[in-house]
Amino acid sequence: MKNNPRIAFIGAGLGGTAGAGLMAKAGFNVKVYEQAPAFARMGAGIHLGPNVMKVMRKLGIEDELNRTGAHPDYWYSRDGITGDVMAQIPLGDYAVSHYGASYLTVHRGDFHKLMTDALPDGVLEFNKKLSEIEDRGDKVVMKFTDGTVEEADFVIGADGINSKVRESLLGEELPIYTGYVAHRAVFPTPVDSGTLPFDMCCKWWDGDRHMMVYFVTSKKDEIYYVTGVPVESWDMNKSWEPCTKDEMRETFKGWHSSVQALIEGTQEVTRWPLLERDPLPIWSRGRLVLLGDACHPMKPHMAQGAAMAIEDAAMLTRCFQELGFTDYEAVFNLYEANRAERASKVQLVSHNNTWLKTNENPDWCFGYDVFEVPLVESEKQ
Ligand code: FAD
Repeated sequence: MKNNPRIAFIGAGLGGTAGAGLMAKAGFNVKVYEQAPAFARMGAGIHLGPNVMKVMRKLGIEDELNRTGAHPDYWYSRDGITGDVMAQIPLGDYAVSHYGASYLTVHRGDFHKLMTDALPDGVLEFNKKLSEIEDRGDKVVMKFTDGTVEEADFVIGADGINSKVRESLLGEELPIYTGYVAHRAVFPTPVDSGTLPFDMCCKWWDGDRHMMVYFVTSKKDEIYYVTGVPVESWDMNKSWEPCTKDEMRETFKGWHSSVQALIEGTQEVTRWPLLERDPLPIWSRGRLVLLGDACHPMKPHMAQGAAMAIEDAAMLTRCFQELGFTDYEAVFNLYEANRAERASKVQLVSHNNTWLKTNENPDWCFGYDVFEVPLVESEKQ
């Protein structure tokens, strides 16, 4: 085995980009192949808990993110009809002193751009859609739809919910539609906020649906909402579809005036299926290994899906650093042993949609430090 083997990521989403950045910083020989021709600033926000911000510190973009994003003082849960507070979880200065990093809400596109810009030149290649992958025992051969062929010593499938790398490990299988969609909209913060001022970060709950709302910029001039709403079926050929303000009015009829103000302020809204898979029986085989949504896609109701992909990437980097490259199967087993339980727990809590609905203690999630947590040994040989 060479001292600095070629490591290829398939997919430059949030997990793949974080992983490539961390591995490049560690001096590994890394490439990322991404199917998209470029990334756009899509209409979505994202929470970055202290568990993620510690990884961003390692990537060297923590300060810039802190300047870019909004710093919610609390996560509020409110009754969707009356506005009564159901839970008030301290974030803001408390997160910094208690967990050692900020809790941020930010535009997903701004976050992704900061991570991709932090990659060294030549690491990321766009327009590279993986079509076939073959582990030949001594190397992996990757074929792309543009007709090109590349080789690597290890391939990390960070290619999301419909992962081609997962398919080569476990066969073709569609993800499970959960019976829920998420409406997503980012738009300039409305002047009228209804009978309450907008909280920095608030989840509105009633019955079988909810709406999560937060600012995505430090200036609080852009606001985002993402919902969870039951819808019986979904055409699995579509990854999202446009939606209308009228549908939003109908879906949240009778809800609090703050929710109505958000709906009236909406400029464009889209609708996304919420998809899952059962926990996978294996995370790696031979020279192929999975991370993030390729491995454990989940409902977004803890706002921790990308966080799990990023933590995976950091743990995989740590396991290579711990054990070296020669016994790579031991590296992948150590990685799985240190990630599967946490990822499955987050998957389950997200599925149940109970996170921070009441005043629970979120330390187990926000307080996790992927670089410091003691490693458990793998039971696999
Ligand atoms: P992705 O980000 O999906 O990236 C996969 C990448 O692989 C893509 O760039 C894709 O183009 C590329 N790719 C796919 N196939 C190929 C191929 N064959 N060849 C080359 N490239 C390929 N998470 C949070 O932490 N906080 C939140 O607030 C949050 N909100 C969410 C709201 C909604 C409505 C949804 C649906 C999800 C939300 N998530 C959130 C979850 C989060 O978006 C995902 O968990 C996260 O993006 C997973 O990262 P990933 O890198 O594994 O996959």
